[in-house]
Amino acid sequence: MRSVGSTLEEFERDLISNLYYQRGTTLESASGSDGYHTLALTVRDRLIERYARTAAAHYEANPRFVYYLSAEYLLGRQLRQNLLYTDTEKLARPIAAQLGTSIEELERYDVEPGLGNGGLGRLAACLLDSMATLDIPAVGYGIRYEFGIFKQGFRDGAQVERPDDWTFYGNPWEFPAPDDRQKVGFYGATAPALDDPSGLRRQWSPGEIVRGEPSHMLVPGYGTQTVNIVRLWRARASRESFDLSRFGAGQYKEAVEDITRAENISKVLYPDDSTEQGRELRLKQQYFLVACSLRDIIRRYRLRNDGWDAFPAKVVVQLNDTHPVMAVVELMRLLVDEYRVDWDRAWSITRRTFNYTCHTLLPEALETWPVALLERLLPRHMELIYSINYFFLQEVEATFPGDGDRLRRLSIISEDGERRVRMAHLAVVASSAVNGVAELHTRLLTETTLRDFAELWPQKFHNVTNGVTPRRFVRMANPRLSELITTTTGSQRWITDLDQLDALAGKADDREFLDRWRAVKRANKVDLAALVEQSTGVVMDPDSLCDVMIKRFHEYKRQHLKLLHVITLFNRLREDPDLDVVPRTVLFGGKAAPGYHAMKLLIRLVNAVAEAVNTDPVVSRHLKVVLQPDYNVSRALVIIPAADLSEQISLAGKEASGTGNMKLALNGAVTIGTLDGANIEIRDRVGAENFFLFGLDAQQAEEQRRHHNPRAYYETDPDLRAAIDAIANGVFAKGDRTLFAPVVDAMLGRDEYLALADYRAYMECQERVERAWRDQDAWARMSVLNAARCGFFSSDRTVRDYCDLIWRVDPVRVTG
Ligand SMILES: *Cc1c(COP(=O)(O)O)cnc(C)c1O
Repeated sequence: MRSVGSTLEEFERDLISNLYYQRGTTLESASGSDGYHTLALTVRDRLIERYARTAAAHYEANPRFVYYLSAEYLLGRQLRQNLLYTDTEKLARPIAAQLGTSIEELERYDVEPGLGNGGLGRLAACLLDSMATLDIPAVGYGIRYEFGIFKQGFRDGAQVERPDDWTFYGNPWEFPAPDDRQKVGFYGATAPALDDPSGLRRQWSPGEIVRGEPSHMLVPGYGTQTVNIVRLWRARASRESFDLSRFGAGQYKEAVEDITRAENISKVLYPDDSTEQGRELRLKQQYFLVACSLRDIIRRYRLRNDGWDAFPAKVVVQLNDTHPVMAVVELMRLLVDEYRVDWDRAWSITRRTFNYTCHTLLPEALETWPVALLERLLPRHMELIYSINYFFLQEVEATFPGDGDRLRRLSIISEDGERRVRMAHLAVVASSAVNGVAELHTRLLTETTLRDFAELWPQKFHNVTNGVTPRRFVRMANPRLSELITTTTGSQRWITDLDQLDALAGKADDREFLDRWRAVKRANKVDLAALVEQSTGVVMDPDSLCDVMIKRFHEYKRQHLKLLHVITLFNRLREDPDLDVVPRTVLFGGKAAPGYHAMKLLIRLVNAVAEAVNTDPVVSRHLKVVLQPDYNVSRALVIIPAADLSEQISLAGKEASGTGNMKLALNGAVTIGTLDGANIEIRDRVGAENFFLFGLDAQQAEEQRRHHNPRAYYETDPDLRAAIDAIANGVFAKGDRTLFAPVVDAMLGRDEYLALADYRAYMECQERVERAWRDQDAWARMSVLNAARCGFFSSDRTVRDYCDLIWRVDPVRVTG
C-alpha cells in the first residue's frame, strides 16, 4: 500500500490527486467548496494510516475498551483540529497560498457538526479527545442527527430557529460503514419461552423493525499515533418498507409512510435536555442508539473473545447521563433471551459493565418515562425492568428490613400518580460506579438527589470533576497565548501536560511579561470585535472590559441577574452622564430551547436592552451590550480568548459543574461567580484574591427558598426597583408595558432562582470588579494567575480520574 508522505511535495501531489480523482474536478474549474473538500480529504488521508495502525494494535492487544454512550456530541469543526493533529498546517498553508487561497478562506466551508445542546455534548467531545491523547482504547457512540442544534437568528430581537442542515454539502470527515448496520425492533408483543421454567426468559416479536446504519468520524490523539473513532447511527427503513404497489397506484405519500416513520428517528436533535417534546420519538431515539451500539460492542468483543465471562473485563460502558440507560436493559435482554445466559449471571455481567455519570441536580431534568409508554414501545424491556426492580427491592429489604418507605423511595418505578420509570434509579442500580461532575455536585447528589442510594452503596459513588481539552480551548482557540506559554515554559509540553502552566505564576510580577500578556488579550479582543461588528453591527472598543456570559439560556443560570446589572448601569448613566464607570462591553451568547418561552422572552429583552444601551448617545460611550447570535463551539473559540470577565452566576446548588468557567479561566478571564459547581474548585486553585465571589451558598440558598419574599427586595433596594420598573414601564419596549410583563412577574412572583436575593451582593461585587480593572497591572496579574493555576481543569486529568477510579483501563501504545 502506498503510504502518504510528510513532505511538501507529497502533500501537494496528494492534494492535486484528491482534487482530480475524489472531487472529479480540475484546478481551473475548482470552486471554493472543492478546495475545502480536497484539503479536508488530504488531511484526512494522514489520519487514516494512524487509524489503521491503531485498529491493528488494538486487535493485537485485545485490551479493555471504554465505550462512551452519549446522546450528544458537540465536536466542533474538524479542519483546523486535524491540521494541528497531523502537523500539516505548515504544508497546507504555502500550497493554499500558491493556489490563490488560504486556510482561513477554505475553513469557511468547514461545518460544525452540532450534534448536541451545550455542556453535556461538549464534555463528551473533550473526553474523546483526551482518551485518544492518552492512548486509551475507546469508541464513542452517538446518533447521526440529520438536523443538529438549530441555527439561531433574531427577528425584531426575538430568537428565530433555522434548521441546521449540516450535511447538505457532504461531510468529508465521515466514513459510512454500511456493513456494520444493525436491526432494531419496536412495539409488538412478548411470549413465554417454552423451555424456561423460571419464566424469566421470554420472546419478543417486535411490530416494527428499523435499520441502524453507522458511520464514524476519526478522533485523533494529540502528540500520539492513536486515532479512535466516534460511531454515529442513522435510522433507515428496512428494505421491505417501500410499498411499490401503492407507489404504482399513485399513492405516493402512503407508499413511503413506513420509510418516513423509520427515518424520523434520527431526524432531529432534541433541542433541550429538560423540556418535554415529542416524547415517544425521543424514547425511540434513546433505544435506537443503545440497541445499535450494544450489538456493535458485542460484535467487536466477539472478534477476539469467546463466551461471556470475559465481557466485563473487556468492555466498560460509560453512560453520559441517563439518555442511554436503556442499554442496561437491552444487555439483559440480549443475554437472557437471545444468548440464554441465566438471570443471575447476566445481571452480574451487566452490573460489572456499566457506569453512570449524573449531570444534574434539577429534579425536572431527572428523566422518567411513563410505564404505559414503555409497555407499548418496548414491551419486553418493561418486563425486564419489573424483574430488575423486583430483585433490587429484595436486596434493599435484606439490608433495611421492614422499611417500606425506603423501598418506595428507592424503587425504579415511581407509584405516585401516573406510574413512571425513574431512569436515574435504573442507572444507579445497574452500574458499578456512579459519578458526579464536580465536588459540590457529587456531595449534593449523595446528600439529596441520590441519598438513599448513597446509604445503600456508599462505595459506588465517586467524584470526577469535569475538564476541557487544552488542545481546542487553548492551543486552537488562542494561538497568541499558546505562543507566549510555549516561549515562557520553554516547550510545547503544556499542550499534553497542562500542569506546566504553573510556571506562568512565576511571571505574574514581571512587568514585561504582563505587557505581553495584555497585548495577547488585546489582539484577541480586536478579533472578537470584528466578529461582533460583522454579525451585529455593534462596534466594540477593544480597550473596554470584555464581560462575557456565554451558555445556554436557562433560568437557573440567571442571565436575568446579569441583565439587571446592565439595566442598573444604564439607569445610573442616564441619571448622571458624568458618572465615572469603567468602559465595558457585555457580551451574551446562548440559545434558548424553542419551547422554553420564558427564556425566549428573556432573549428578546436582552436584545431590547442592547438596542437601548447601544443607541443612547451618553450610555453607549461607556457601555455596549451584545447578544452574539448562534453561540456554538466555533464562536466560543473566538469569544473565550478575548474575555476579561467570566460570568458564572448560577444559583448555588444548581449548576452541576460548568465547563465554560474552565475554558474562560484558562484563557485568562477572571471569574465573577457564586459558590456553585466547579467555580468552587476554580476559586480554591486560583486563590480567593483572584476570584470575584458573591451571593448565597448552596445551603443558604436552600434556607432562603423557604421564606423568600422577592417583593421585600424590590421595595427596599432603589437600584433594583429602578431596574425592574424600567422593564415594567416599557422602557425597552417603546412604552409597551405588556410585552415584558411576564419577566417582571417571574421576578416579583416566585423568583424561583433567587436573583433578587443575590442582586445587591452581585452589584457590590461588580463594583469590586471595576476597582480592580482600574489597576491594569493588578488585573493582568490576576489574569495570569487564573490561567497558571487552572491546569487541573484539563480533560486529560478528568480521563485519568475516570481510569483510576472507575474504568481501570490501560493505554495501548500505537507505534509509528
Ligand atoms: C463549553 C460550552 C458550553 C458549556 O458552557 P457552560 O457555561 O458550562 O454552561 C456550552 N456550549 C458550548 C458551545 C460550549 O463550548
